Amino acid sequence: LNDVFSSLPTTVFEEMSLLAAKHQSVNLGQGFPDNELEGPESMKKVVASSLYEHSNQYPPMMGVPELRQAVAAHSGRHAGIQVDWQTETLVTSGATEALAAAFLALLNAGDEVIFFAPLYDSYLPMARRAGAVPRIVQLHPPSWSVDAAELEAAFSPKTKLLVLNTPHNPTGKVFSAGELQVIADLCIRHNCLVLLDEVYEHLVFPGTAHVSLRSLPGMAHRCLRIGSAGKTFSFTAWKVGWLSGPADMIKAVAKAHQFITFTVPSSLQRAVAYGLDSEQPFYCGLGAVLQQKRALLERQLAGIGFRVLPADGTYFLVADFAGLLPEGSTEDDVEFCYRLTREAGVTLIPVSAFYDDRSEAPRTLVRFVFCKTDAKLQAACDALRAYF
Ligand code: PMP
Ligand code: GLN
Repeated sequence: LNDVFSSLPTTVFEEMSLLAAKHQSVNLGQGFPDNELEGPESMKKVVASSLYEHSNQYPPMMGVPELRQAVAAHSGRHAGIQVDWQTETLVTSGATEALAAAFLALLNAGDEVIFFAPLYDSYLPMARRAGAVPRIVQLHPPSWSVDAAELEAAFSPKTKLLVLNTPHNPTGKVFSAGELQVIADLCIRHNCLVLLDEVYEHLVFPGTAHVSLRSLPGMAHRCLRIGSAGKTFSFTAWKVGWLSGPADMIKAVAKAHQFITFTVPSSLQRAVAYGLDSEQPFYCGLGAVLQQKRALLERQLAGIGFRVLPADGTYFLVADFAGLLPEGSTEDDVEFCYRLTREAGVTLIPVSAFYDDRSEAPRTLVRFVFCKTDAKLQAACDALRAYF
């Protein structure tokens, strides 16, 4: 057995959803939208008609041309980054495969990769399996700020890649223009590549702008951007993702992709192409819908005794439960999430699951997901209020 993988636990999202099902709790853990909030009906119709009107055999390895063209047009329209669809785009099986293929393609044994913690749970196992050595820079709560000196200290002559997730899971942080400039300056000075996990690019609350690091001067030729239909259209089951970036990086990642999945179901690709082109009101409206849901949850959690941390995007809310523990309690976030599922009927995700070394993680933070009906959010709050 391989050391990196055999020692891993099952991903926290699967673990907590199984626990929620077992206890029939309100599941505000794993991040997926309720049925009522999922993407446009018109896109489902394109999937269905595509099954009848197009070939059901292997589509092209890089993705169907319609989707690659739509990804390029979307990049120009929403990120201000011009992309050649034929050489600078690639379709993957969700962002998860895009990440895995990028790590396998870009990293050699001993290369150092800079990550910010907390971090999405697939990053480290896949980067380590590619032989890379992670250098982790902490984001500091409550605003999850970056300390420029700490970031600078993480760079070395072996730094090959920096991974940046903005808008950020689990914190909801949207990196500011100033922070992006600091990161860009260091990446240029150390001549490193960048993998941008921008799956939540449209899930930004009104008044805040998502800026892609790739759009900054000196960055286009070193950055790969990742998008996902799971997030942009709230169709997490479809597992359609995409990459855009410089031709040499895309070509390398495509070599890994060809031996991981080779391709992605073409009916789903066609529907996502249609959606990117024609359902802009859906994804451009997500931020406003989510901001209202967050406000509903935040108000009530504060009343119950949680301390809610600020955020500008995503459908995640991080809150501190220290004020709800009995005097002298040493209960940590994992124990708290298990207790809440069993005794209050509400399931959350412990934020320490987003840290490599749990001893470096905050002990009393939990993540709520709020891409749910108002009725479900209300039911969760009622259950928590009754319990505490
Ligand atoms: N990156 C981040 C930060 C995520 O939150 C997710 C969502 N699960 C993914 C990647 C994976 O996305 P997908 O479902 O498209 O594989
Ligand atoms: N990205 C989702 C989350 O953070 C879950 C993804 C998954 O279950 N693999 O909750």
